[in-house]
Amino acid sequence: MTESKKIAIIGAGLGGAAAGRLLQRAGFDVDVYEQAPEFSRIGAGIHVGPNIVKIFREMGLEQELEELGCDPDAWTSRDGSTGEIIAQANVRGYGATYITVHRGDMHALQVSSLDQSKLHYGKKLESAVQHNDRVELKFNDGTTATVDIVIGADGINSKIRELLLGEEAPLYSGWVGHRALIKGDKLKKLQAEYDLDDCVKWWHEDRHMMAYYTTKKRDEYYYVTGVPHPPLDTQGRSFLESSHEAMYEAFEGFHPCIQAMIEASENITIWPLNNRNPLPVWSEGRFVLLGDACHPMKPHMAQGAGMAIEDAAMLTRCLLQTGLDDYTTAFKLYELNRKDRATKVQAVSNANTFLKQPEDPSWVYAYDALTTPIVQLAGEVA
Ligand SMILES: Cc1cc2nc3c(=O)[nH]c(=O)nc-3n(C[C@H](O)[C@H](O)[C@H](O)COP(=O)(O)OP(=O)(O)OC[C@H]3O[C@@H](n4cnc5c(N)ncnc54)[C@H](O)[C@@H]3O)c2cc1C
Repeated sequence: MTESKKIAIIGAGLGGAAAGRLLQRAGFDVDVYEQAPEFSRIGAGIHVGPNIVKIFREMGLEQELEELGCDPDAWTSRDGSTGEIIAQANVRGYGATYITVHRGDMHALQVSSLDQSKLHYGKKLESAVQHNDRVELKFNDGTTATVDIVIGADGINSKIRELLLGEEAPLYSGWVGHRALIKGDKLKKLQAEYDLDDCVKWWHEDRHMMAYYTTKKRDEYYYVTGVPHPPLDTQGRSFLESSHEAMYEAFEGFHPCIQAMIEASENITIWPLNNRNPLPVWSEGRFVLLGDACHPMKPHMAQGAGMAIEDAAMLTRCLLQTGLDDYTTAFKLYELNRKDRATKVQAVSNANTFLKQPEDPSWVYAYDALTTPIVQLAGEVA
């Protein structure tokens, strides 16, 4: 299909880049506006569950993602002190591979798949004004754009969310996440001492450490924690530098493998984990929200980006069903078909209970945002 009407996506993060790719492939005229002047490969990993890899298939990027990342057989949960396995979920058999990968590598793949002439860096949205027949966008470099609809994929501090619901700071969850990579000789030494799990979460009553490979060759290992912590003053940044000493203190008494991972890690960072309560509305007029702009969560289920990418897939389907002229119906359909699932994942992720005990994870991984029947507004299914 070809559409003469224009879509603007604000934010080229994991959700915005997915929406851009899917909508452009579907024939929509889409420009993506990103505030950053460029993206860099910051030290962090990400899980991409089979529910999301199916969408990478639709984006035409599945094989390339598989070449980048590791493909664990299972998510293993261990007791943080004894190392005993307390739960192990097979992540195979859900219609696509489970992949763990460097977040920067995955994001670069997504961004490179966009029409580069429609990707605009250094464009921080300052204002968006709705008129009867259009939206006027203004960016911090003084430039403007006129479009038909605006997708707010601009993360937890979303400007579009603010326009819909007013200014409101996100809620500090009371927890932080430490992130670090382990590479080179330090990783080889660690591998010689311990039989590292491909994908493992080490649990304790009130904290945990998740660790996994971020490359197919298994030459980069990554950990991310969840630890209760007083509020941090990050002075407007997303994270601060942390230290080995802070990590030893936070994980005192934990299994020797954890102590060895801390010793082997480099450039440890600490991230305040923020979230929001479920929003009363996901769209208004010509504005619609997606991903962390809409339902940010603590990252303990490793599905935050997953929900953003599922949103992108469902929003594309709804716009294809109605056409851009009837964006009002598309936005209603999108919310109807996404809200329950995203809110459930948000709640389970915030509670940090997923796979702490043996459970069937198929409700997360077997889902396919591309083929699940769309519930229609009158209740019928198409
Ligand atoms: C420690 C940690 C670990 C995580 N691990 C996982 C995991 O393993 N698996 C998983 O699925 N999720 C994980 N997540 C969650 C995941 O990172 C987020 O849910 C995901 O990034 C949300 O994608 P998004 O596109 O909605 O927002 P973002 O990725 O935050 O992207 C928003 C984009 O919008 C841009 N932007 C913001 N404001 C403006 C503006 N005014 N104008 C223009 N551009 C703007 C930003 O620069 C950014 O590029 C983790 C999160 C954390 C903190």
